[in-house]
Amino acid sequence: MATTIPTSTERPSTAPAPTPKAAAKPKPRRVNVRTREVMELVQAEVENHYRSEVVEALRQQGGIVSVGNTTIRLAKQFGFCYGVERAIDLAYAARRVFPDKRLFLIGEIIHNPEVNRQLGEMKIETLEWREADANYEDLTEDDVVIVPAFGASIPIMDKLQDRGCAIVDTTCGDVMSVWKRVRQYAKDGRTSIIHGKASHEETLATSSRARGDDRSGHYLVLLTLDDVDYVADYIRHGGDREAFLQRFEGGHSQGFDPDTHLTQVGVANQTTMLKSETEELQRRIAAAVADRDGPELAAENFRVFDTICGATQERQDALFDLLRKPMDLLLVVGGYNSSNTSHLVEIGEQQLPTFFIRNAECLKSLEEIVHFDLHSKAERSSYSEQLLRDEPIIVGITAGASCPSNLIEDTILRVMQLRGLGAEPLRRALGLAAA
Ligand code: SF4
Repeated sequence: MATTIPTSTERPSTAPAPTPKAAAKPKPRRVNVRTREVMELVQAEVENHYRSEVVEALRQQGGIVSVGNTTIRLAKQFGFCYGVERAIDLAYAARRVFPDKRLFLIGEIIHNPEVNRQLGEMKIETLEWREADANYEDLTEDDVVIVPAFGASIPIMDKLQDRGCAIVDTTCGDVMSVWKRVRQYAKDGRTSIIHGKASHEETLATSSRARGDDRSGHYLVLLTLDDVDYVADYIRHGGDREAFLQRFEGGHSQGFDPDTHLTQVGVANQTTMLKSETEELQRRIAAAVADRDGPELAAENFRVFDTICGATQERQDALFDLLRKPMDLLLVVGGYNSSNTSHLVEIGEQQLPTFFIRNAECLKSLEEIVHFDLHSKAERSSYSEQLLRDEPIIVGITAGASCPSNLIEDTILRVMQLRGLGAEPLRRALGLAAA
């Protein structure tokens, strides 16, 4: 009689049952929507929505044009940056590649109401970005979720992974470079001091990475130079722990203790901060650590990486350049919640009357400009004496990295209109055919 030899998959009934393996966590389902055919269609669509031939012509003739008694000067670098262009392209591509699927976006793709309105029209629904709320529970494997240019926090990415939905990740490479820095700080056991706004999408995403892979790392977010001085003083002399934690509530990691976690620090920043302020923060924290530890130990206990992105820096530098030329007032166009745009306003304000406007509609009349006041953090109406005067004026214009060219064109045309000059003389001055 033949003996039955068990196959390798059979086991004798007396053998102990193997411990069941923990279910493997599904990998994030990142999808690539960048095929050549799709991108060709998308670029035509994006150009159609946001391009401006007036702005292009103005740029080509050196950023200056005069019609009658009104001159417009445009900064050399302004408007959409490479990261924003890529994010918008990918969002449009996602709609084309998945025409029938439910398509979601975490928060805003960028901080510009016009762009977000366009995406809304493409039936892209918004998900909460601060934390994964109940709506995330409704997501299924059939859904597609777009991660914006700012990135998203680890808990949100984990939730998307758990739900198994497809992810179109538009996170800017410059933001990911900051994540790499803060992850390394966590790995080295140092606390990340992040110059940024704790409630900004990008900083929230960055600070979640500062906890490191094992979630044991720490971070502290500082916004103002007052915050910096407070922390520098604590580094030098210690202080009231409770008062410290209260002051930075919402801007530090869970379990952060200023008496322990300021020993070894590394500085990073939100990519869109004001460069001069970030440098000042670096100097002040470095000096405090050196005073506490002496120069040798300070070299070990303080690290820094400037993580301001190239596009932000170019726009700030271009504005400084513009401000060296004579101008009567400055219009800065962009979303009120745009960090890089706000910093352009801060730079302008130091030198001349500056109005932070969302779009041309804010220029209601010569007597009324609706604009955002960074100091009171509210929209208000005022007027510009310069714009009102019936004499030659020079109006400077710039825009943040999230502002499309068509909104800049609208603004230029509106200024001309308010000054009693039509669009056609402007087009002629720019060598463009009549519209
Ligand atoms: S502003 Fe800088 S970090 Fe943000 S999307 Fe543009 S290039 Fe990227």
